[in-house]
Amino acid sequence: MADARLQPVLDPHALARELSGKLLIGGRLVPARSGRTFDVVNPAKGDVIGQAAFGEAADVEAAVTAAAEAQKAWARVPARQRGKLVAECGRVLQDHVEELARLITLETGKALRTESRIEAGVLSDSFVYYGGLAPELKGETVPLLPTTLNFTFREPIGVVGAIIPWNVPLLLMALKIAPALVAGNAVVVKSAEEAPFTVLRVCQILSQILPPGLFNMLSGYGPECGAPLVAHPKVGKVTFTGSVETGKIVYKTAAEKLIPVTLELGGKSPMIVMGDAELDKAVDGAVVGMRFTRQGQSCTAASRIFVHDSVHDAFVAKLKAKVDAMVMGDPMDEKTDIGAIVSCAQFTRVQDYIRLGRETSGATAHVCSRLPDDPSLAKGLFVQPVIFTGLTNDSRLAREEIFGPVTCVIRFTDYEDVIAQANDTEYGLAATIWTRDLKIAMDAIHRLEAGLVQVNQNMVVQPNISYGGIKASGLGKEASLEAMLEHFTHKKSAIINMA
Ligand code: ADP
Repeated sequence: MADARLQPVLDPHALARELSGKLLIGGRLVPARSGRTFDVVNPAKGDVIGQAAFGEAADVEAAVTAAAEAQKAWARVPARQRGKLVAECGRVLQDHVEELARLITLETGKALRTESRIEAGVLSDSFVYYGGLAPELKGETVPLLPTTLNFTFREPIGVVGAIIPWNVPLLLMALKIAPALVAGNAVVVKSAEEAPFTVLRVCQILSQILPPGLFNMLSGYGPECGAPLVAHPKVGKVTFTGSVETGKIVYKTAAEKLIPVTLELGGKSPMIVMGDAELDKAVDGAVVGMRFTRQGQSCTAASRIFVHDSVHDAFVAKLKAKVDAMVMGDPMDEKTDIGAIVSCAQFTRVQDYIRLGRETSGATAHVCSRLPDDPSLAKGLFVQPVIFTGLTNDSRLAREEIFGPVTCVIRFTDYEDVIAQANDTEYGLAATIWTRDLKIAMDAIHRLEAGLVQVNQNMVVQPNISYGGIKASGLGKEASLEAMLEHFTHKKSAIINMA
């Protein structure tokens, strides 16, 4: 059996060609019903790497039908058995980490060493983690009478529509698919336009282990493919990660159907550096938190860094030196820290924000690192990271999500004032505070309006830590046991009268 399994393919160009024009429906790679495709471009070099299948309503119909059919049998498989199979998926995905990392690097421009390998590793870990949680799909008993048994149990929802973005597609698909499957659901995944092939490859790998139709993968555009998936009458739950604007559209459609949704949307995460902070650690935390290695393309990016007046200048100098030392270049190169921006649209948007920042009175742009001089990257979408100082919290750069390597360092003097500024945003995804004062740390944990508050660290998402925003950053939680139980099952109550 093991020998018949797909072997890792380390040439991502070959893989992109092989997966071109395909969707995964009912366990088989098939073209879109219309036969249409769209180009997928390597952002680091500008070359077309393949053509993704252009999924539309007819493909959604086929995928949801296959999922609904497969789900009936899957729901009857004992939970521990489902968990074993999902954990097995994680172990097999581990063998494909390098392959998947190269392919995701090719289609998104993220650096292989600093980003893609790590993400592909977390994908595998998440399947193993959720596989192990299967026995936790249990209920409660409620005391009533000696002759009456009242108990609860967890039932799968049915077919889950999972819509993912391009910035960390493997991590985000894992946090959606793995708990949904363990809980007894079937899934239809819709990949982002920019990054369809790695998601398709993962689904192809999983289809060797899981029953056909249990999960299906569609590539395509939002209005033509994502929208009919959300609207499909047999889709009983939607889990979405993307922009606030699209999240609202998804929420409205789900409201018409009265189905539950999980929405992971944008962020403008504050990082507060108090005067007593360990400055070098805070600087390292800003580099990680701002996701400079991902070109800042993260909803949790620490894009508003409030630094106490007493350490502001030292912090900026150290941060600039750190980011300056980062190597921007070919994302496939092991020496590269920072790769390319994912698409022309995103590249233009980031440049527009940088121009706006430069034109704002009082602002200084500290431009870091160096553009690559390799001629093969001449058409690449590279943007030098920019640290702005002198901007206020009410400037557009401090209020709007840029999704690029641009951060604002804002000077403050008063703790009460900085908490108010940190919370003065429509978003509420994540926040950090850097201090040696435990009293201040605890106070900030309670008062910062965010789904995740960290003190003296800026860790990235982990499968076992509940993650999700408040305010415009979204609804519901991902990762953790809670996400599986609360967001991928219904709780049913039963009462047996034996009198
Ligand atoms: P981004 O700006 O990061 O691309 P989007 O919210 O536009 O964020 O996209 C995130 C995901 O949502 C992608 O897979 C995209 O195709 C999908 N999408 C876009 N529009 C819609 C829609 N109207 N309904 C459902 N999904 C959509």
